[in-house]
Amino acid sequence: MPELPEVETIVAGLRPKLTGLVIQDIRVFLPSLVRKDRNFRLQRIHGKRIDSVRRRGKMILVECQDRLYLIFHLKMTGRLFWTPRQTPLDKHTHLVVSFRGRADEIRFRDVRKFGYLRCLEASDPLECPELHGLGPEPLDLDLESFSRLFQGRKGRLKSLLLNQTFLAGIGNIYADEMLFEAGLHPLTPAVSLTRKQKEKLWTAMRHVLRRAIAAGGSSIRDFQDADGAQGLFQQEHRVYGRASLACPRCGTKIRSLKIGGRTSSFCPHCQRKRGRLLTL
Ligand SMILES: [Zn+2]
Repeated sequence: MPELPEVETIVAGLRPKLTGLVIQDIRVFLPSLVRKDRNFRLQRIHGKRIDSVRRRGKMILVECQDRLYLIFHLKMTGRLFWTPRQTPLDKHTHLVVSFRGRADEIRFRDVRKFGYLRCLEASDPLECPELHGLGPEPLDLDLESFSRLFQGRKGRLKSLLLNQTFLAGIGNIYADEMLFEAGLHPLTPAVSLTRKQKEKLWTAMRHVLRRAIAAGGSSIRDFQDADGAQGLFQQEHRVYGRASLACPRCGTKIRSLKIGGRTSSFCPHCQRKRGRLLTL
């Protein structure tokens, strides 16, 4: 699933292309992909200018004039990309947005069909059910605010990092990479973190996410940006997807565990168990 750095990369590619364009029409080939209120007609968006394109968590928010919003979630295999209109449509392309006076359009392609487009009219799109309740943006937090997030939070550190109400935008890749960089075992109870460990995790989170954004995200499976380019950060993964390979820091064999149904990779030497761990 595209995580914060991948979605940020797509948004950075789409923003300069889309801002200021006027939507000509939206063609939907898979109606179940579109979420909207019953009385909301997609045609309302036709003829509207795009004012901004931004990211919140793993979602892409396209703000149009008259408080109209298109919110895309790519989920597992969704792709949102910019392409010439004459490119043939394939069976996995479920939605197309075209623009006045432009020979290019954006297409939403999704093999597994878990992704969606939420359309709404709202004064504050962050209040819609898909966005309401998301935790803060990881790169907006100073150390104090980050530390406060742990108050009253139970469970294992890895599961907490994947919880979108705790932090928005982090998934399996970046949770594993930041725990490695912070030297924390994924089963560490969140309540047991010391001040120093929180600081290490905060520093690692910022470092990993910023490096990943700079590298255009991680292209595993088939992630591509809005122009079809691959990210490069997968070459810098140190534990994610490297189970049974040597840790790049100490040479110990990287292990994997299932935690909450997700595979976690970690180095048993660099991320040593300290104190009581929450068992599986
Ligand atoms: Zn190691």
